[in-house]
Amino acid sequence: NTQILLDNRPRGQASPDNFRLVVGDTPALRDGQVLVRHHYLSLDPYMRGRMNEGKSYAACQPLGEVMIGGTVGEVAESHHPAYAVGDKVVGMGGWQEWSVVDGDAPGMLRKVDTRHVPLSYYLGAVGMPGVTAWYGLVRIIDPRPGQTLVVSAASGAVGSAFGALAKARGCRVVGIAGGPDKCRYVTEELGFDACIDHRAHGDLASMSKALKQACHDGIDGHFENVGGYILDAVLLRANAFARVALCGMIAGYDGQPLPLANPALILINRMRIEGFIVSEHMEVWPEALAELGGLVASGRLRPRETIAQGLAAAPQAFLDLLQGRNFGKQLVKLI
Ligand code: NDP
Repeated sequence: NTQILLDNRPRGQASPDNFRLVVGDTPALRDGQVLVRHHYLSLDPYMRGRMNEGKSYAACQPLGEVMIGGTVGEVAESHHPAYAVGDKVVGMGGWQEWSVVDGDAPGMLRKVDTRHVPLSYYLGAVGMPGVTAWYGLVRIIDPRPGQTLVVSAASGAVGSAFGALAKARGCRVVGIAGGPDKCRYVTEELGFDACIDHRAHGDLASMSKALKQACHDGIDGHFENVGGYILDAVLLRANAFARVALCGMIAGYDGQPLPLANPALILINRMRIEGFIVSEHMEVWPEALAELGGLVASGRLRPRETIAQGLAAAPQAFLDLLQGRNFGKQLVKLI
């Protein structure tokens, strides 16, 4: 069982040296346990927070242990009556090829149906990132049809789901993404109304001008994945009583400071800005997953994936994700 451990904590930017690849044993199963062979490992920005000590939205990852991570796979052996060999399951198996799971542990393993939705999508559009988009849109932004919404990191796992969910509610949706290829995908394949390339609009004045052009009636709701000058630019174009779902601030995950240029705009625009963690709202998951599954099955949400091959490729693929080199959901294929 090949595994990747967190070996030491990053100082500033994370690097491949923070990780260590080892070959471990697969323990024998006890009663109630299930052996899962992982097909895909999910790489997610929150993992960067776990590599640090100190206050973060994710608990700190202990050194010398298998890196935490979402996985999908197949039951290879079962000592639990609810699971049979061959069942497809989603869980938190971590950065390794196999995991042993207690079948009764709450939230650790869930059977999934792969007849209409490919297995890997349960780590993206029809999984944690999709539910994240759903929660911010439905519970925080709560838009009316015809309102204008903006989302940063629009081509990614969360951003692409956000666009499909917002379009289904009759909103006008404007994405922000890095580079012409991602922007083309966001408008042409995901059906956003417009997309702004942040590489071509790399400062506050330029981004604010681009947002003014793309959002003729101002911004009623914003889903923030990045932070920094992008959030500043949105505040400048926000309408009165606009709402911001503060989901992520990936531009600062390696420790970069992200000061707000003009926080008085929150008062002037009477805005509500709310941070949230999707795993603290398990009550919405069934409803959100049902809607997301329907959007995928009907072709209204066509997620894109970047797939690294083999566990050894995981550290570099993860570092690439933090630099925006992924295009859509970042996965590692294990078999
Ligand atoms: P993505 O698939 O969107 O990948 C991350 C993307 O962020 C990159 O592709 C890149 O897109 C963009 N990015 C990275 N660095 C920068 C930067 N410095 N400036 C601008 N853009 C940057 O990841 P996810 O969809 O998985 O996650 C999106 C966000 O949602 C993250 O911030 C994550 O932490 C957050 N999140 C929060 C959760 C919660 O419960 N609050 C749960 C899940 C995710 P581009 O090239 O377009 O810039």
